Amino acid sequence: MTPLLPNHWAGRWQYGTGPGTPLIDPVLGHELARVSSEGLDLEQGFAHAREAGGRALRALSYRERADLLGGVSEVLQAHREAYFEIAIANSGTTRKDCGVDIDGAIYTLGQYARWGRSLGQARVLLDGEAARLARDGAFACRHVLVPTRGVALFINAFNFPAWGLWEKAAPALLSGVPVIVKPATATAWLTQRMVADVVAAGLLPPGALSVVCGSSRGLLDALQPFDVLSFTGSAQTAALIRSHPAVAQRSVRVNIEADSLNSALLLPDAAPGTEAFELLVAEVVREMTVKSGQKCTAIRRVFVPQACFDAAAEAIGARLARITVGNPRNETVRMGALVSREQLASVREGLAVLRGQTDVLHDGGSHALVEADPAVAACIGPTLLGARDPGAAARVHDTEVFGPVATLMPYRSLDEALALVRRGEGSLVASLYGAEPRALADAALALADSHGRVHVVSPEVAAMHTGHGNVMPHSLHGGPGRAGGGEELGGLRALAFYHRRSAVQAAPAVLAHLAPQGTAWTAD
Ligand code: NAP
Repeated sequence: MTPLLPNHWAGRWQYGTGPGTPLIDPVLGHELARVSSEGLDLEQGFAHAREAGGRALRALSYRERADLLGGVSEVLQAHREAYFEIAIANSGTTRKDCGVDIDGAIYTLGQYARWGRSLGQARVLLDGEAARLARDGAFACRHVLVPTRGVALFINAFNFPAWGLWEKAAPALLSGVPVIVKPATATAWLTQRMVADVVAAGLLPPGALSVVCGSSRGLLDALQPFDVLSFTGSAQTAALIRSHPAVAQRSVRVNIEADSLNSALLLPDAAPGTEAFELLVAEVVREMTVKSGQKCTAIRRVFVPQACFDAAAEAIGARLARITVGNPRNETVRMGALVSREQLASVREGLAVLRGQTDVLHDGGSHALVEADPAVAACIGPTLLGARDPGAAARVHDTEVFGPVATLMPYRSLDEALALVRRGEGSLVASLYGAEPRALADAALALADSHGRVHVVSPEVAAMHTGHGNVMPHSLHGGPGRAGGGEELGGLRALAFYHRRSAVQAAPAVLAHLAPQGTAWTAD
């Protein structure tokens, strides 16, 4: 039997009981390790994090905590090669795709270290200026943001075991809030290993960082009113979390990042042969294939002017045909596996649903697998579908297939296109492709209320734009409606989730003592 990975719980390494759940190499089918959270004393672990971890972190200034983040990022950098080995084996994706997760994590930590240092030795954030409450200014109010005195529980999805931890932990630890992470079971190894390296480095105070691998049973029950919960995963699990008594009755603050039917939209001025057209084609192919399409931000719906539909189908299909699929250890392979055979079954099921309302423009089934056994590996080629009557294809706008699948759709007018994009009922990101700055800006504003991020690609940014699906720590990550209604990152904006805002009403002489302890709360 493979080794059981220990949990870092209540300040020490502890093994769960029972045989544990196996983690599987999704290409070779081998068992890699096992995880179990059975038998852990959950109350004890939460209390240790809340009390020991919280107290120690809150005793530090923002600058000191930012230095801790800088130290964590150096520890991760030092073990980077080991992370690639784990990720290739456990996630089944190529080295380049694993880098999106691992290097994205290290980069995000580094950014928060830099931004945090700018907050200096303060322990409180001042939100705006004092407001007069009496006519002569003898009584006034000032808003402060202080770290919440609870824990931050992260329940994460399988597709970003590295970045998913650190994009949340960086703002939490910088805020002075201890972290408990429960990674998705399928890919828990990388998260567990990163926590083990950081704990071994002895950088963080005891209780600041805990990891529990395996079942989530009991974790939400242990949450108390000042704790916060950040969840990333499916809409079904999100619905269970929203109705849990911790959230519904104890008002635990919750952030949810869930499914999203992200769009790419070619503006009417961008005909085949224009640079904008080529940029859309390249981005769609990249988004469909990076991490085998298992990115919450991946492009799922592609809208082009009616006259461009056939040319777009041909150009995207031709590029997809060149994607080699199979064992990520083979250097010729461009796209590895899905995370598991279960996800493969789920993608096939989703494809069958979409196929009921679409045509197949490029069939993923036409890709022979490189060094991978189709009976064992969770590999599937990229599939481009087409819906010539997008208004009638309801499933395309409400079914997220979490794999290398996208649907191309024609539109007759820009208004119709914008309305179709909005049929996603709230998404993480939409990208726009065109050359007319005014038209691009107007379309961006028209989509801003239903998207956490609008990524605009015009010829002048062709070589330097950051990519439709890449989540930069500077920019908001999250989206309304179906996307879960959450907000993460966005520079120092992320700190708001881990702080409580309070209005202190007092005489000016009292308020004067607040200012020296704080620093101005600015989002950047
Ligand atoms: P999932 O099945 O909902 O699982 C997410 C996490 O929730 C896992 O850690 C899972 O643990 C845990 N969980 C399962 N049931 C639970 C329960 N009853 N109570 C508490 N926790 C529970 O989602 P997934 O399949 O891992 O992830 C894929 C989905 O995540 C996709 O739909 C994707 O769109 C979404 N996603 C969104 C974002 C975003 O930022 N918006 C990012 C990445 C992924 P176990 O693994 O142990 O079951």
